[in-house]
Amino acid sequence: MSSMNRREFCSALGLLWATSGWSGGQGGDDASARMLAGAIDIHVHSYPDDRPRSIDAIDVTRLARSRGMRAIVLKNHYESTAGMAYIARKEVPGMEVTGW
Ligand SMILES: [Zn+2]
Repeated sequence: MSSMNRREFCSALGLLWATSGWSGGQGGDDASARMLAGAIDIHVHSYPDDRPRSIDAIDVTRLARSRGMRAIVLKNHYESTAGMAYIARKEVPGMEVTGW
């Protein structure tokens, strides 16, 4: 991570989400997975939300863990995500998940 600048990091995140084709499996691009090892995404939007999202909180947590990420922060513009983060932590052991 220390050699990755913000643009590269954001690109890797976009690649992660774009290539996931998420269905609970590994999937995705090996290069993006290597770039995300140990990463913390501090702004993750997911279902349930007030607008369409590409993935729900449990599956995005599983996806992040499958890529070797350290942690994610679940976000919502109108409601607390603390309860969803609690459930995601229980369902996806080994991932640090925080609500906001
Ligand atoms: Zn936001």
